[in-house]
Amino acid sequence: MIGTHASINGIFVPVQDAHVPVDDMAFAYGFGVYESLRVRKGMARHIAKHLDRLFQSAAYIGLVHSFTQKNITAWVHALTEKNNIEAANLKILLIGNTPEPQLYMFLVAPKYVEKKEYRNGVKTVTVNYERYMPQAKSLNMLPSMMAFQKAKEANAFDALLINKQGNIVEGTRTNFFAMQGNTIMSPPLNEILDGITRRHVLACAKEHGYTLTEAPIPLDDISSYDGAFLTNTSSKIVPIKQIDDVVFDDISASIHDLRGYFNEYTENFLYTQE
Ligand code: PLP
Repeated sequence: MIGTHASINGIFVPVQDAHVPVDDMAFAYGFGVYESLRVRKGMARHIAKHLDRLFQSAAYIGLVHSFTQKNITAWVHALTEKNNIEAANLKILLIGNTPEPQLYMFLVAPKYVEKKEYRNGVKTVTVNYERYMPQAKSLNMLPSMMAFQKAKEANAFDALLINKQGNIVEGTRTNFFAMQGNTIMSPPLNEILDGITRRHVLACAKEHGYTLTEAPIPLDDISSYDGAFLTNTSSKIVPIKQIDDVVFDDISASIHDLRGYFNEYTENFLYTQE
């Protein structure tokens, strides 16, 4: 946690006092959903989209609550103002406690991707696992944590999850794409988290003449593509250099170009919205 204050149900709590009770349902059962928002220039980005997804995730797991998006939006603004931090990730945890669900919010340090990782691409490893209810961003995180641990041990950026059919579905905290010429391939949307960065990247890509194909991406076919990349809120577009033992010769121009277009898109357009 960074900053001076967290927020519990919209009430500021100094970070050193921001504890959860031992019978918290997330602690005991993982019964909760979460979001991670990007804070830049002191402002949380795309609040409405994150809160829509938070509420959808809650609905998926049957977490009934009476928080409203209007209230949470105000609490998000209040928390970023109170902490007065330029850059952070803002975590929202919605926990299915009884009788009263709880909403925790706090700031964490953003993970910065090194310039050379953007330039040269990152290493990834694979793990056989598909998330339960992939469209929900739930706190059922043990296998994802273990997969990410495996990635860290291998000095890799993330682990790619491989489903029972042998297809790459997503990273543990990223969306996955393959690139062939100017065609972006994505696993089918119903098998993955509908990433907010993914939506923005695809909208930007469309403006620049890229096409999208949503279809299974077999791990065995990966070397037949020009390249691949990952997206998420804190890292934006991260080119992939290596998947297990498959190494792409170089990062394709179409991926580098897309990164450039997306950087412009976020600076000039999206980040002045919402
Ligand atoms: N896929 C998974 C499994 C994730 O956990 C995340 C983010 O944490 C993403 C994709 C990327 O989503 P977003 O772009 O909304 O950060």
